[in-house]
Amino acid sequence: MENCIFCKIVRGEISSKHVYEDADVFAFHDIHPAAPVHFMVVPKLHISSLADVEDKHRSLLGDMMILIPRLAKEQGCTDGFRTVINTGRVGGQEVYHLHIHVIGGRDRLPVMIPHPR
Ligand code: 5GP
Ligand code: ZN
Repeated sequence: MENCIFCKIVRGEISSKHVYEDADVFAFHDIHPAAPVHFMVVPKLHISSLADVEDKHRSLLGDMMILIPRLAKEQGCTDGFRTVINTGRVGGQEVYHLHIHVIGGRDRLPVMIPHPR
């Protein structure tokens, strides 16, 4: 995709802080980290959002999920982390290239969705 920010990052046209790269997957630190560890795992293939995944993406998505705990640990998340995929308008997605946020650090993260009492 010509004008997609994350495609440009994958192609190296926009610089990013490197976390990981293989033939199909790219990972880089979020430019506005929400916690001491905050990086994104993206497919090199442009998929707009989780709402657009298809059966043909099954092994790519599996590869990303298997990779995440390894990268999280390497980045210092030794006692857990949070993964977030914002999807579409309601999900508050800002960049329309599928990405999995991996967020962590030393302290427990705030509750994301409080339970109604
Ligand atoms: P979303 O709300 O779409 O799930 O998250 C998009 C994320 O991409 C945000 O956390 C934002 O900080 C990050 N982001 C946006 N533009 C750039 C960029 O050019 N470089 C990096 N490293 N992160 C970006
Ligand atoms: Zn893209």
